[in-house]
Amino acid sequence: MSNNPILEIQQVNKSFGGLKALDNVSFSVQPGELLGIAGPNGSGKSTLFNVISRIPFGVDSGTILFNGQRIDGMKAHHIAALGLARTFQKDAEFPNLSARETIDLAAVYGARIKKPRRLIEEQLELLEFDLSRIDMPTTELSVYERKQTMIASALVMKPKVLMLDEPASGLTKPEIESLDRLLRKINNNSVTVVLIEHVLTLLLSVAQRLIVLNEGKLLAQGDPKAVFSDPLVIDAYLGKRAA
Ligand code: ADP
Ligand code: MG
Repeated sequence: MSNNPILEIQQVNKSFGGLKALDNVSFSVQPGELLGIAGPNGSGKSTLFNVISRIPFGVDSGTILFNGQRIDGMKAHHIAALGLARTFQKDAEFPNLSARETIDLAAVYGARIKKPRRLIEEQLELLEFDLSRIDMPTTELSVYERKQTMIASALVMKPKVLMLDEPASGLTKPEIESLDRLLRKINNNSVTVVLIEHVLTLLLSVAQRLIVLNEGKLLAQGDPKAVFSDPLVIDAYLGKRAA
């Protein structure tokens, strides 16, 4: 490829006690692409996002470059301010906060910059969130609306790269179809997207390229459909999922 990678992961390792959650993982992300990440439960996908964003921890060893700049030693808010944002697998729960307040808080935490009201509304609008519900407590919102809120919290930082950790979990089929459209919209707005997803219909629909992790190691990468017809991937993936 002719472009320089926007994100480069080089020989990254992360252990928890004796468990190698990430074992010598290397790959790169091209600017503008929508890269999918698959792998069975416990294969290290969320840990990968953790060490890249440094929320809440960094690598044990290895190098991470963002736009050619080394970020593996940086603080989380500095990485976010450079243009790398993430969402979390767990539904963010801020029981006493509205969608607006949640996004405002995330923006302040991430980049330590006060965001104008309009910017918060714009992100929710882009995600087709019903703005009449923006000031309701998030506890009264649907799972899908809370996911929209979490994605808007990342987008309000105007990231160059958006990393999403299983955004489709807990969603209905029509909601997953909406999410499919929204992810393409975000990507078309020239945000590079890295998507961890267990819902394979969504992953295979939107990912232009796929990476598969298994037991902390990079098992396969390439064209999504080709990767998912690789017997190694089918074995690892289906074997674990059935367990
Ligand atoms: P995935 O997102 O692919 O399901 P994770 O990255 O969450 O997998 O976890 C990879 C492995 O690392 C799992 O065995 C998990 O139990 C372990 N792990 C993840 N985070 C921690 C942590 N903070 N402390 C101890 N073990 C962890
Ligand atoms: Mg995970």
